[in-house]
Amino acid sequence: MAGRNFLFVPGPTNVPDRILRAMHRAMEDHRSSDFPGLATSVLEDLRQIFKTISGQAFLFPSSGTGAWEASLTNTLSPADRVLASRFGMFSHLWIDMAQRLGLEVEVLDAEWGEGAPVERYREALAGDKGHKIKAVLVTHNETATGVTSDVAGVGRVLKELQHPALLMVDGVSSIASIDFRMDEWGVDLAVTGSQKGLMMPAGLGIVCASQKALSTYDQARLPRCYFDFGDMRKANATGYFPYTPSIPMLYGLREAIAMLLEEGLENVFARHHRLAEGTRQAVKAWGLELCARKPEWNSDTVSAIMVPAGINAAEVIDVAYRRYDLALGAGLARMAGRLFRIGHLGDLNELMLLGGVAGAEMAMRDVGMKVTPGSGVAAAQEYWRGTAKPLAKRDLPPRAPDAQPAAPSAKEKATAGAAR
Ligand SMILES: *Cc1c(COP(=O)(O)O)cnc(C)c1O
Repeated sequence: MAGRNFLFVPGPTNVPDRILRAMHRAMEDHRSSDFPGLATSVLEDLRQIFKTISGQAFLFPSSGTGAWEASLTNTLSPADRVLASRFGMFSHLWIDMAQRLGLEVEVLDAEWGEGAPVERYREALAGDKGHKIKAVLVTHNETATGVTSDVAGVGRVLKELQHPALLMVDGVSSIASIDFRMDEWGVDLAVTGSQKGLMMPAGLGIVCASQKALSTYDQARLPRCYFDFGDMRKANATGYFPYTPSIPMLYGLREAIAMLLEEGLENVFARHHRLAEGTRQAVKAWGLELCARKPEWNSDTVSAIMVPAGINAAEVIDVAYRRYDLALGAGLARMAGRLFRIGHLGDLNELMLLGGVAGAEMAMRDVGMKVTPGSGVAAAQEYWRGTAKPLAKRDLPPRAPDAQPAAPSAKEKATAGAAR
């Protein structure tokens, strides 16, 4: 198909040309004396992305799922109690992993479309007088339902109760796109991957660990080997890795961090919020609902859009892909067929997103949904026009005078007469 594929799944996201170029290089010796310059700068600078001063970043060759595993196995022991909430596919999968690793998970189930239940975390932790709960898990942005949770609120609960449990946060679809403050919120393990806000291919599982999290490593008895913090710390301390790192991914990550810091993290978050808000205006204009049950839970990185009964959202996604080269996110597990998702994170601006909104609108009409043509596009356009930064005054060349129509030549007159 000619033209670009419009990638609007919530990860992997578009890889900007700058990052592609940074990654396009010959392989290097990862044991050379030059290598630590690259590895150390990336590991140091990642702290700014997590907003931590004393935290330590780890890079594993995996996707986000490997970083989940690293956070659990390096800090906990078999049969340790863990408190977690479940309100979507990703929060579910992290809990499932914890259970399969042999942890005792106390699950706070909430409706899919709701956020992490902060008050229920409080109750459970307040009732845990003997401090049996060793870790608290929160999914910051539930990508399956387009819901962002109040991680700061859970952090506050732990502080107020002076509960010593580790706070572990899945920030795979929030970090580098939605404000995340590791130190301020008291997060002990923050997990992400390379293919979402960091605008890279999948392939790096990234964990940032607080000093408190690192101090539990020696007592933690869950089996671990490839994702071992100890091996990694020992090698990283000298600027190397315990096994062969992906050279292109390290160059790509260095460029991604540079791009994010050049734009300014706060500007990155504001851009994501504004793009998301325009998308939500489109959804409203279509007469549809988000899966997120309350505006406070609206995600700035992904909108999960419910389709009416009688419509299969999988068909919208299929038509969008085959007819318009547009990739939309699917409904997962119990949301299969009931919603489609527009990912709006990473390297993205208004006009790119209008392509996704326009394509979704066309595909919805193609499968028989009664959305008014152009309604979502117009709503998003007007929102973005209305919230655009004012332009600085600039001198433009004066407008040319209106052109006078040239008098017809004798020959033209003659032909016109003949035609009549
Ligand atoms: C994408 C994602 C993950 C990890 O998925 P991988 O495919 O292993 O990278 C975990 N949690 C959330 C919230 C996600 O969006």
